[in-house]
Amino acid sequence: MRPLKERLYETFSDIKADVSLAPYTSFKAGGRALFFLETGREEDIITLFKLQEEIPFTIGFLGKGTNLLINDTVINKVVVRYQPQDPVTFADNNRVIIKSGCLLQEALHLCLSNNRAGLEGAAGIPGTVGGAVCMNASSGLGYVTSCLEGVNIITGHDCGFRTKEELALTYRSSNIRPDEFIASAVFELPEVDDKAVSVIRQKIKKHLQQRRSRQPLSCPSFGSVFKNPPGHSAGELIEKAGLKGVSLGDVQIATRHANFIINKGRGQARQAYELIQLAAKKVWQHSGIRLQREVVLWGFSDSDSKAMIL
Ligand SMILES: Cc1cc2nc3c(=O)[nH]c(=O)nc-3n(C[C@H](O)[C@H](O)[C@H](O)COP(=O)(O)OP(=O)(O)OC[C@H]3O[C@@H](n4cnc5c(N)ncnc54)[C@H](O)[C@@H]3O)c2cc1C
Repeated sequence: MRPLKERLYETFSDIKADVSLAPYTSFKAGGRALFFLETGREEDIITLFKLQEEIPFTIGFLGKGTNLLINDTVINKVVVRYQPQDPVTFADNNRVIIKSGCLLQEALHLCLSNNRAGLEGAAGIPGTVGGAVCMNASSGLGYVTSCLEGVNIITGHDCGFRTKEELALTYRSSNIRPDEFIASAVFELPEVDDKAVSVIRQKIKKHLQQRRSRQPLSCPSFGSVFKNPPGHSAGELIEKAGLKGVSLGDVQIATRHANFIINKGRGQARQAYELIQLAAKKVWQHSGIRLQREVVLWGFSDSDSKAMIL
């Protein structure tokens, strides 16, 4: 059996080895991918899955990296970033098909310009459509998935359609596994008149102003660190545990919003990870509430991940 590197290089002309992932995350920290493939072609992802039948390796699907904390070490994956051309298709019966690598803000803009309503939940969320379905992202204007019909999925075994009901969507969670790729999402977005679009745009404007006043958006972060426990705000719990402003190196629990961890310069992923553990531990000790992580971890060991649960 030929080594993975050789097979990858002969199959993909533009695959790269040993690529720093920090620039591909909103936190601007993290280690290097063993291999990195940026592609606009779904076929490449099918080919990659086929190669796995020949040589075992792990694939990591990267969206815009806005909900990811990647360890400062070598990431033992073939990391794939899907950047399709012409990502939005307006089809019959109000259907809008959006390729997963499309940024939410681009999708929202195109939909409103075409008088389609229903994607407002995406307002202000910096990720891609694939990442948003995977994380079941939402804003004060609703869930991104509120008008979702389903997603086209590619796995090692097949390609298929999973309906919204089959995605088991709950708060910040879906049943998409790390070894499944969302190729595109199908939404049913009704056509509305110009007046309705202008009302939506006003709502979005107000919502974005509120976000700017509440969130520390001037420094790199990965958005909310923890999910809000039922009936509580994770940020308030962290603040009550006395952790607002606590730093490790250049990484800080934000003073403006304690559920954000920010990178003030040369912060490392490990420092963010330790602050996450500290926050979970202190909130448990102070309030008896177990915080659940929202941010996805790459490259931290199983035992590290278990320690987070306390
Ligand atoms: C400043 C800031 C504000 C934020 N505000 C919000 C908010 O209001 N609401 C909210 O819900 N989130 C928010 N987030 C978090 C984040 O933007 C969302 O979770 C977003 O949906 C993640 O998308 P992404 O493309 O960046 O995914 P990534 O971070 O790249 O990946 C997240 C997960 O999705 C998986 N994934 C990504 N694409 C695919 C794909 N095509 N197929 C299969 N798996 C895939 C990845 O493997 C990973 O497990 C915020 C983040 C920041 C930095």
